[in-house]
Amino acid sequence: MHNKSLRELALGLRNNDFSSVELTQYFLDRIAAHKDINAFITVNKDVSLQQAAEADNMLSSDNSHPLTGIPLAQKDIFCTDGMRTSCGSKMLDNFIAPYDATVIHKLRQAGSVTLGKTNMDEFAMGSSNETSYYGRVLNPWDKNRVPGGSSGGSAAAVAARLAPAATGTDTGGSIRQPASFCGVTGLKPSYGRVSRYGMIAFASSLDQGGPMTQSAEDAAILLQAMSGFDERDSTSVDIAVPDFSSKLEQDLKGLKIGMPVEFFNEDLDAEIASIVMDALHEYEKLGAELVEISLPNSHLSVPCYYVLAPAEASSNLSRFDGARYGYRTAEYDDLLDMYNKTRAEGFGQEVKRRIMIGTYALSAGYYDAYYLKAQKIRRLISQDFSRAFEKCDVIAGPTAPGTAFRFGEKSDDPVAMYLNDIYTISVNLAGLPGMSLPAGMDSHKLPVGLQLIGQYFDESRLLNAAHRYQLATDWHKRRPDGF
Ligand code: GLN
Repeated sequence: MHNKSLRELALGLRNNDFSSVELTQYFLDRIAAHKDINAFITVNKDVSLQQAAEADNMLSSDNSHPLTGIPLAQKDIFCTDGMRTSCGSKMLDNFIAPYDATVIHKLRQAGSVTLGKTNMDEFAMGSSNETSYYGRVLNPWDKNRVPGGSSGGSAAAVAARLAPAATGTDTGGSIRQPASFCGVTGLKPSYGRVSRYGMIAFASSLDQGGPMTQSAEDAAILLQAMSGFDERDSTSVDIAVPDFSSKLEQDLKGLKIGMPVEFFNEDLDAEIASIVMDALHEYEKLGAELVEISLPNSHLSVPCYYVLAPAEASSNLSRFDGARYGYRTAEYDDLLDMYNKTRAEGFGQEVKRRIMIGTYALSAGYYDAYYLKAQKIRRLISQDFSRAFEKCDVIAGPTAPGTAFRFGEKSDDPVAMYLNDIYTISVNLAGLPGMSLPAGMDSHKLPVGLQLIGQYFDESRLLNAAHRYQLATDWHKRRPDGF
C-alpha cells in the first residue's frame, strides 16, 4: 500500500479498494510504528480521520480531484487552522493558527487529508534538521545520519513511506538537499508560482513552497494543486498554470542540457561526480544533448545568501516578541525585559546567529558594504543564468556536495554546514525552478541527487525531463531497508 503512487492511490479510492479513512489510518499506524524517525512534530489523529471521512463523502459525489482522500504530510512551516504550527521552534510551541496557509487551503479544497506536521530546522534555518526544538530527524537510510534540512521531516516521511507525499519549502536548498539525502524527488518552483501566504517567513524574497514525492509524476500532481496566483501574497505572479501532468511524456530528443563548468570541477567529490555523469549519459541515450555552460559568479552565491537571507530573517523574526502570540517568558520587569527574555529563551542558537548577522548587515554603517553589495551580486548571479539559458533548456549538476553526513559532523562549524547548499542557493537567488531526483547510491549505500534547473516558470520541462529519466531508471523506487 505505502509504495503506491498518487495515481494508484486515487484509483484505489475510486475502485473502493480502500476508503480515505482506511488509507489515513494505515499511514497514521506507520507513523506510530516508526516514531523513532521523529519525522513529525504534530499528528492529530482525530482531525485527520475527520478530514478523511469528509473526503470519502467527496469521493462518492462528482466533486472529486486526483488528491481527494489522499493523506499528505505538511511541513510545519505552513499555518494550519486548528492544528499546531511550530516552525520547529520553542517560540511557536503553543501556536495554533486561526487560518490555513494558501497552500494548505488549496490542498484541502482538493480533498486531501492533513496527516500531520513534519519536523524541520527551526524557522527553516539549517541543512541537517539538527536545529529543531523537537529534536533531530533520523535518515531512514542510516539512522546515524541526518536527513538534510530544513525540510528533513518531510523528506524522511516520504523516504520511509510514512506519507504518500509531502510539502516542503526551499529558501536556499531546503527541498532539494533533503530530497537528495533521503532519495526522494523534490521540486522548488519558480519564485512567485506558489503562494507564500500563511507560510512562516524566513527570507521572503527567496522562500518557495513545493512538493516532495516518490516521483516526478507525483510531483506534477501536487504542484498542480499548490500553484496559482494569490492576491494575498504581493509577490505571487499572475501567470497561467500549465497542466504539468500533460507534458510529462514528451520526448527529450534535442533537449539541450547545460553543464556548468563551475559545478564539475576538482572540488566536486569524485563519487558524486561519477554518479551525476552517469545520469547525464542516460539523458544522452534519451536523446538529450550535453553542452558546456558557465555560471562565473556561482562561487559568490553562498556568501551573498548569508548576507541577504539573515538580513530578511532579522526583519521577519522581529514579530516574535512575546506580545502577540507564541512564547512569552514567565517573569519580567518591564516591556523591554519581556522582549529580551522572550527572545533569549524562545529562539535557538542558529536563529540567534542569523538575527545578529542580519541586523549587523542592515545597520546604517554597514548597509552599503554588505547588504547593497550582496544585492548587486545577486543580480550578477541571475544574469549568469540568463546567459546560460541562451545555450540550453535545462541546467544539470549535483544537488549537494556530498551524501547524508553523520549527526554532529558539521553542527559545530556553521560554514561547513552552509556549504552544503553550494549548488542550490544560486537558484533561489535567481528565482528559478529547481529539482532534485534520485540518481544513484554512493559506496555507503546512501542516495545521491541529481539537480535540474529550469527557466522561469518552466517547471513543466523539469518535470518532463525528470519523468523520462524515471521511466528509464529505478533509483527513485529504491527504498531504505525495513520500510
Ligand atoms: N540550509 C540553508 C539555510 O540554512 C537553506 C535553508 C532553507 O532553504 N530554508 O539557510
